[in-house]
Amino acid sequence: MLIGGKWIDAVSGKTFETINPSTEKTLTRVAEAEAADIDAAVVAARSAFEAPSWSGISPHVRTRYLLKIAEAVDRHVDELAVLETLDNGMPLASSTARATQVAEIFRYYAGWPTKMFGTTNPTDSERFIYMLREPMGVCGLINAWNVPLVMAAMKIAPALACGNTAVLKPAEQTPLTTLRLAELIEEVGLPKGVLNIVPGFGAAAGAALVSHPGVDKIAFTGSTLIGKQILQASAGNMKKVTLELGGKSPNIIFPDADLEKALATAVATFCGNSGQICSAGTRLFVHESMHDEVTERVAKIAATYKVGSPFEPDTKLGPLISAKQMERVLSYVKAGTEEGASLKLGGDRVGNQGYFVQPTIFSSVSNDMKIAREEIFGPVLSIIPFKDEHDAVFKGNDTEYGLASAVWTRDIGRAHRVARALKAGRVWINTYAEADPVMSMGGYKQSGFGREMGAESIEAYTQTKSVYMRL
Ligand code: ADP
Repeated sequence: MLIGGKWIDAVSGKTFETINPSTEKTLTRVAEAEAADIDAAVVAARSAFEAPSWSGISPHVRTRYLLKIAEAVDRHVDELAVLETLDNGMPLASSTARATQVAEIFRYYAGWPTKMFGTTNPTDSERFIYMLREPMGVCGLINAWNVPLVMAAMKIAPALACGNTAVLKPAEQTPLTTLRLAELIEEVGLPKGVLNIVPGFGAAAGAALVSHPGVDKIAFTGSTLIGKQILQASAGNMKKVTLELGGKSPNIIFPDADLEKALATAVATFCGNSGQICSAGTRLFVHESMHDEVTERVAKIAATYKVGSPFEPDTKLGPLISAKQMERVLSYVKAGTEEGASLKLGGDRVGNQGYFVQPTIFSSVSNDMKIAREEIFGPVLSIIPFKDEHDAVFKGNDTEYGLASAVWTRDIGRAHRVARALKAGRVWINTYAEADPVMSMGGYKQSGFGREMGAESIEAYTQTKSVYMRL
């Protein structure tokens, strides 16, 4: 782990293994942080935060650090991509695209340190009043395993851009790219202790970070269940909290849409990262008149998707992250069949080594079935018929989640009407899964708390102070 600029073992000496989900073999063992290590990391981050070498530096210097990190990532894209594919199982084309995206995220945030303004506020001639924008302090960053490197960048970059220091706990399933990224970051010469990495498990390392009185802010990405626990555990010293949680996103296709594009994208989104994406379009709403045709066409496209080694260039679906996740996904397939949905494609494991699952499609799903309500986090699509626009929006919104959504139509009035009516943090019109660092992301309802990325993330990693002076 990385604490105070040193690469060290856990206080307990414990390590844990990280597994290649394609082969089920151990890749390596990693130091296992527990409460004592978290404490040391928070102390290091606090002292780095208070030190003039970080709190006193010019914003131009913070910009230069972030640009250098982006350049270092650019030079190591291929290495980071291979490491991500080994540890997480995503196809190499995806891990390569994502490593490139990581450099863009650092470049985007490199622009912010010199542009985080306070305000000079209007008042009478007897006073001078203004507001300062200041960092939060020590940020505890906790990530999930589905897109580890991108998530690390999405948290480290704004935290450092805003002048905070950080203690990051990667997911226990996928610590490797975060550790390698931290090595690259160290090489650009950040003051020691500004960034600390503490791999370990949620119950020991994660919980210790969330309840630590020396942490000022928590940014978490993971399940809604753990998100709720984190919100409660953060209350002790009133940490500022942002949470990026689960989803069950509606993808609504109207009959006037460009069907070829809509259906190809519908398959790409539920199969992307083998369905292990919180914003995946897992509920496909189609007009009842098109239900059978769409089901047939979507199943035909998905049947061409190759499941296999993520290192083979034509592979579309790599393995799921773990045996536990595979069993969970297969149990939802069973639940779907038992509840009376019609299994049109897939539903099984592929091979007997590695956690590979077929693209799986259910049609004639009703929105109250378990497979339409719970986040599966696997390549399982539910096709649900609707009667009219009102019914589509009503059913799309009839979920406890609100992370993302999409609408496909050539009618611009309907496109914007539906975009407004959907209760979700993101709406895609005639596309899916597009992202840009300038746009914030986050959840309505139980999909989140606060926003990441874009200008809103600057607010999430800073606080304002009002200064009153009598002249
Ligand atoms: P997933 O279901 O995707 O594995 P989790 O919400 O269980 O998502 O985990 C996401 C991250 O939260 C991981 O880094 C995990 O170690 C961490 N985590 C799990 N439980 C806790 C907890 N009680 N407190 C803090 N972090 C936790």
